[in-house]
Amino acid sequence: MSTELPFNLIRRRGLMMVLSSPSGAGKTTISRRLLEADSEINLSISVTTRAPRKGEVDGRDYSFIDATEFNLLINRDQLLEHAKVFGNYYGTPRLPVEKTLSEGRDVLFDIDWQGTQQLKEKARADLVSIFILPPSWFELERRLFSRAQDDPAEINRRMAKASDEMSHWAEYDYVIVNRDLDQSVAAVQSILLAERLKRDRQVGLAEFISGLKAGH
Ligand code: 5GP
Repeated sequence: MSTELPFNLIRRRGLMMVLSSPSGAGKTTISRRLLEADSEINLSISVTTRAPRKGEVDGRDYSFIDATEFNLLINRDQLLEHAKVFGNYYGTPRLPVEKTLSEGRDVLFDIDWQGTQQLKEKARADLVSIFILPPSWFELERRLFSRAQDDPAEINRRMAKASDEMSHWAEYDYVIVNRDLDQSVAAVQSILLAERLKRDRQVGLAEFISGLKAGH
């Protein structure tokens, strides 16, 4: 009798993991750390009509497009979700997401609550959503100012918007208060691991167990 178990019968169905938060809560840093440590998850690169910030790279941080191109993508049904945030348009291109999921890999989304709701309507079973909160209002303000990528008027607008954003916390599966970056990254990794192990996401389990019972 073979002692080798047919592990290769078990494949994974990719999941969609959303991270949302008010600007400055640390979501981008957490995503970056997660992506560096885990080659099984890809970042969804959004399209936006917002102008690039200093240091942002087209195709890496966002694909920067104009309003005409954005409307064309909507009309051609090439966006999985889209929303207006701070007066600019943002959207998730459909094809790269579908490709990654079909390969049994996961996709990470850095999108707002409006986009999360749209993904929930389209693909609830595949969606895992996490809301990141700052430890305090003061800390949120401090982070936005120290980032200094936006002009003061923009920072004030984002602070005003933050409480609005935060009112959507209850629509998320998980909530993390980002007091310590290492701990927050570990928390996101734990959620990802547990969600990957969910029975429905392990395709081929029934065959594997039949094999086990047959003595393989
Ligand atoms: P920022 O301009 O600071 O990069 O992003 C502003 C907000 O837009 C953030 O809350 C970010 O999560 C959200 N966002 C970025 N890309 C998308 C997207 O493709 N769809 C939606 N709905 N929101 C997005």
